[in-house]
Amino acid sequence: MEENSVLVFGSVAYDCIETPFDKADYILGGSASYAALASSFFAPTKMVGVVGGDFKQDDIRRLSARGIDIRGLEIKSEGQTFFWRGKYCNNFNERDTLEVRVNVYENYDPKIPEALRNCPFVLLGNIDPSVQTKVLDKMESPRFVILDTMNLWIEIANKPLRELIKRADILILNDSEARQLANENNLILCGDLLREMGAKSVIIKKGEHGAMLFHADGFFTLPAYPVRALHDPTGAGDSFAGALAGYMAGAGSTDFETIKRAMLAGTAAASITVESFSCYKLEESGLAEVEAREEHIRKITAV
Ligand code: AMP
Repeated sequence: MEENSVLVFGSVAYDCIETPFDKADYILGGSASYAALASSFFAPTKMVGVVGGDFKQDDIRRLSARGIDIRGLEIKSEGQTFFWRGKYCNNFNERDTLEVRVNVYENYDPKIPEALRNCPFVLLGNIDPSVQTKVLDKMESPRFVILDTMNLWIEIANKPLRELIKRADILILNDSEARQLANENNLILCGDLLREMGAKSVIIKKGEHGAMLFHADGFFTLPAYPVRALHDPTGAGDSFAGALAGYMAGAGSTDFETIKRAMLAGTAAASITVESFSCYKLEESGLAEVEAREEHIRKITAV
């Protein structure tokens, strides 16, 4: 196993998305797809998940074309791929989930190939916390665990989520999820409370307003990249988490300064994702594009 590899787990999905200006049906999505593609810019990336017999060969090709190791992607030919339908309204400020079908993720028992079990960096992308726990239990003493989740799981799987948070080196949430989980309106206090729940550090994302890090060594905040060509915000959070994990693995280090730079990478990757449907723009872009955006954020934040 390479010293600096990342194991990405999460949903691999087909999405139907409607934005105020456009719509797309049955496009590749899912937390693991976005996260693995974003991670692959920075470090060898292994993906674990499950898809159904309807999963297209071309989508397998899209993932492996970026060098993602998909030995851990199980194909259940008799089942259907995870399905999500969402609609953005009010000029992208709100998103409604119209339909979720977990399909092959129902009663999924993750099989992690022996060769992937000692991956040092583990990203538990957004999915049922009980399944995230099963994956983590199968890993051999990972060095660093990043945990992402969403409002649905905070509501319906609060207990297993809280148990899992105690095992997270970084917990990533957006602002409304942080308020919901911490039961507190002030986001700064939310960060402190979530660390008290057992996460070693916490990142709270605020969409177009950037992200904040709460860490034992201090507090850090970063704006978002100024996106002018917003097309579809889906996957921004997953891309942020994937690039964060990949950057840290590539750097081979987990300290406060590295996490800050990893947030820069995450912010840049997320800004690319939102400029197209699905992962198309992320797939087309090279590391140079990500780094140019990182540099731009550095420039606009220097005083
Ligand atoms: P994000 O915009 O970062 O929240 O991620 C959106 C992606 O997450 C879409 O591609 C969906 O397929 C996927 N997704 C939506 N709901 C869930 C869920 N409950 N569990 C796992 N993945 C989901």
